Amino acid sequence: MPVSSAQVNISRMLGQQAERVMALGEWEERWQQDRIGFHQPTVHRMLEKNLDKVLNGRTGVRFFFPLCGKAIDMKWLADQGHSVVGVEISEKGIQQFFEENNMTFSEEPVPEIPGAKVFRNPEKNISLYQCDLFQFSSSIAGRFGGIWDRGSLVAINPKDREKYAALIVSLMDQDCRYLLDTFLYNPDQYRGPPFFVPDEQVRSLFGSSCNVELLQSVDALTDRQRDWGLDSFMENIHLITLKNSSATK
Ligand code: SAH
Repeated sequence: MPVSSAQVNISRMLGQQAERVMALGEWEERWQQDRIGFHQPTVHRMLEKNLDKVLNGRTGVRFFFPLCGKAIDMKWLADQGHSVVGVEISEKGIQQFFEENNMTFSEEPVPEIPGAKVFRNPEKNISLYQCDLFQFSSSIAGRFGGIWDRGSLVAINPKDREKYAALIVSLMDQDCRYLLDTFLYNPDQYRGPPFFVPDEQVRSLFGSSCNVELLQSVDALTDRQRDWGLDSFMENIHLITLKNSSATK
């Protein structure tokens, strides 16, 4: 098959960040130093805009938030009667989530994962696991009907993307609707995170087992990205469902 110049260009751009690694300790340090510019004080506009497509008429959906941080989106969904499971390495981030939203929480070890803890608020049905995402699996909290991936695929180390996609697919229930937020920018200008994830790669990561639909592509350039050295920054939202599943009907 002939390789187009666009494909060559995409592989070159992916190559720019391929070796970049953020150790878990660096993330924890960011939380300790309050360097959490990724956190947003309001519900994410792309989630708000596309929630109907994720719910597809369902109520009481079990949502999964990989790399959840203290995203306010978790409370927003829980307030609408959905349940939420998140995974986050920073204990400080998890505690801040409950404290800032005036929720009490319990704290327990997770028998399957040495050193991990789960923080829960049973009234709101929110459980946040403090551990490395790659230690998490469906044997711990089952599978999910909805996934909101914001700052997650784009935040894990680029070399872990295949492993990540396999894990996420293994957490999807038959009717799961997975909303994925990615960024397009010139990786010659900024080294990430968030990392550059082209649509072609989203399709190659998930396309064999899933249908991938690009729902929206918006210009998301603000002063934050200009400060990183970028002159263009696009945000793309994808809806991913398992092939042959009831979620596509
Ligand atoms: N989704 C959140 C946070 C995005 S930033 C939001 O929208 O605000 C990425 C988060 O993932 C950080 O809070 C970081 O501490 C956490 N993180 C990074 N790598 C991780 C890993 N391998 N396992 C669990 N958490 C991780």
